Amino acid sequence: MSSKALLGMTLAELQEVVTNLGLPKFTASQIAGWLYQKRVTSIDEMTNISLKGREALSKEYVVGRSKPVKESRSKDGTVKYLFEIEENKFVESVYIPEEDRATLCISSQIGCQMGCEFCATGKQGFKGNLTSGQILNQILETERFDTLTNIVYMGMGEPLNNTDEVLKSIEIVTGNYGMAWSPKRVTLSTVGILPGLKRFLDESKCNLAISLHFPYSEMRAAYMPAEKAYPLNEVITLVKQYDWSGQRRISFEYTMFNGVNDSVADAERLAKLIKGIMCRVNLIPYHTIPDVKLLPSKAETMNEFVRILEKHNITATIRRSRGQDIEAACGMLNAKA
Ligand code: SF4
Repeated sequence: MSSKALLGMTLAELQEVVTNLGLPKFTASQIAGWLYQKRVTSIDEMTNISLKGREALSKEYVVGRSKPVKESRSKDGTVKYLFEIEENKFVESVYIPEEDRATLCISSQIGCQMGCEFCATGKQGFKGNLTSGQILNQILETERFDTLTNIVYMGMGEPLNNTDEVLKSIEIVTGNYGMAWSPKRVTLSTVGILPGLKRFLDESKCNLAISLHFPYSEMRAAYMPAEKAYPLNEVITLVKQYDWSGQRRISFEYTMFNGVNDSVADAERLAKLIKGIMCRVNLIPYHTIPDVKLLPSKAETMNEFVRILEKHNITATIRRSRGQDIEAACGMLNAKA
């Protein structure tokens, strides 16, 4: 029988493990501390657990950490990590240092089912979901873990197409027994899978980024098949039911394609769509990928877009591209070994 991973288990699940092994209940929080705060990689290192307890654990379990199989470093300091999940199935995470913060962009699935026309991950198809342990492993393995200030679920995959495991990982990242991060430092990005989105909004306090990209339903459906199942208007209606005036933030991601979604009318339409929501719009320069005819918008067009949104009192910023030389920028992740 192969050993099961402890990494990725919530406190309640660890309590079940220790109860089944006949160990004292408090052992569960000790294990959580070793896994998520002291970041040990073996059960042997859990030295405040009795030797007998560690032996019992080791018979059925392992910690479940795994090192990246490859690292690529950009000239701008961005680091891309490649993890092998199963034989020939890979995911990537990206470490992005900036002056005042360091963000880790993590993956939630191997490939993606959403099939967005402009995305290298979408082009690759879907090869499976990550477990919460495999999601957390990306965070814990970051070589500059101690410098991390933000975690974004914006890597490969649609997180809310893997809601159970993603929410479990968020519970562990933000829970006091786990990594105890403030939910203000965690952002989940989604195309707007409604059932998962509702659960995420109800069950966590983390920030939300909606991958909007197109302000009209028909236009969005042409490039993002998810629009057909979860239309823009319904996504906006749902997020409007939540309070965004406090610490929790919402942003709309808008990748700009030359001559497709970057006109004055598109900007006006976007402003109208999100009117009344305390939000920010992140305008993302498109990075061309092979076999896709879309082209990036011109810099002056993007600046004009910002001006129109600002006229409507919407904060808009143009996201700086990072890690383009190592294919780590938005929409470029394809986990090539
Ligand atoms: Fe999936 Fe996001 Fe790429 Fe769309 S943009 S295919 S949701 S990874």
